[in-house]
Amino acid sequence: MRDRKSSHLGKRKCSSRGQTSEKAALVTPCLSHLPLHPSCLLGYGVAALAERYDVDVIDLNADLHSRYRAKLEPILDFMDESRVVSDALHLYPFYDEVDTHIDEHYEGVPWGKYQRVYITPPSWFPTVPTKAILRLSHIIHRVSPETGIFFFGNSLGSWTNQEELKKNGVRAVHLNHLAAMDSNARPIQYDLLPTPMYEHREKYLFDLLPFLLKHGCPWGRCRFCSFCAGSNSGYVERSVKAAIEELETLIDRYDPAALVCRDHSLNGLNLIQFCAYVEALSRPWCGQSRADLSGKQIEALRKAGCRLIYFGLESGSDRVLRELNKGITSRQMSDFIKELHSHGILPAPSLIVGAPAEEEADFEKTIQFILDHARYLDVVNVYPFMATPGSEFSRQEEQPVPDTPLRLLRFIHTCEDLGLKVILGEQSIEYYIFNWVRTTDKEVP
Ligand code: SF4
Repeated sequence: MRDRKSSHLGKRKCSSRGQTSEKAALVTPCLSHLPLHPSCLLGYGVAALAERYDVDVIDLNADLHSRYRAKLEPILDFMDESRVVSDALHLYPFYDEVDTHIDEHYEGVPWGKYQRVYITPPSWFPTVPTKAILRLSHIIHRVSPETGIFFFGNSLGSWTNQEELKKNGVRAVHLNHLAAMDSNARPIQYDLLPTPMYEHREKYLFDLLPFLLKHGCPWGRCRFCSFCAGSNSGYVERSVKAAIEELETLIDRYDPAALVCRDHSLNGLNLIQFCAYVEALSRPWCGQSRADLSGKQIEALRKAGCRLIYFGLESGSDRVLRELNKGITSRQMSDFIKELHSHGILPAPSLIVGAPAEEEADFEKTIQFILDHARYLDVVNVYPFMATPGSEFSRQEEQPVPDTPLRLLRFIHTCEDLGLKVILGEQSIEYYIFNWVRTTDKEVP
């Protein structure tokens, strides 16, 4: 089960030398994002702001979840047991109820004491709608019209509309330049940031810390992908030395039970060298990658304690994979799954059903792929096709094929018949992944 017990949690003061006398708050908006672990953006953001301001950290999203933890626990227990899990079915009713308390939660903060309030996403997922940020900023402005409000995060240019924020008095800023009015979308240089600060970790569901080896994805060309759009676009790998020194400091400081690499894809020139250092840290961890890691890279991951890799399988049809511009064939996907499995790393694939190019014969190939590879799997994550903001498909207004609901049902039943856990939605799959990684007695099937 999960690691952490709920506790009363409030703001955390972080201070450092070289500050101005200005008082700042770093906060998260309340979203339908489980507080699985503290977000990298929150950790780096507070460390950077503490160099300049007297800053309080208020993870409003995690605090709200802590308040309603007693209601959330039985839902998570049910998700642990159920073979079919869905964000919409299992988590959204909880969020609908919690949503009615969000304004009151925001109004409980003494906004008037802050000259600056920085808002940032509470998790890795960039699914941060503009209206969620404005809901918070309107309350801050109503209580304290003088407070400057800023936003930084990985959702600008996809789920978050910068122009809308600006019209409503919220300025977008860049994580490397939080004090400057600089929002130009360019890669974040993580090596230039101070070591993240992750205090009050008892409010998160897992005793787990995130780390990053890069900004962006080494491929960045999938036509359905919003994770490489807007502020996530561009690509910069970190120096292994900087990433390892940072990780060593985090482990000394916080002693987390497990780690997660939050790269869109951990493929990269720095991977093998990084893994060689991580071996000595003796922590289980997980990450996501493209399905074209070499055997040498997978062996390095195994030695480094990596227990699970989440990856985009998308489809069992090469025709659909080409249409998606995935840049990987179904044969490569198959080899990748087997290679991970033979190294004791659980392959956790994600698929799309009903993509615009998917014909019945393509869908049958996806079903056959799952039948052929079920013995290597424990879980499958599936999404009905939806053009997400900032993606090429979204600009082209691509729609799912009409048979999508029927195909989805058939896909789910196939997985059930094979004894696989099938998960719809990003929150539920993350929850599953972290449960797997922290439970060291679990082995690949
Ligand atoms: S789907 Fe994954 S591999 Fe494709 S561009 Fe997006 S992050 Fe990169």
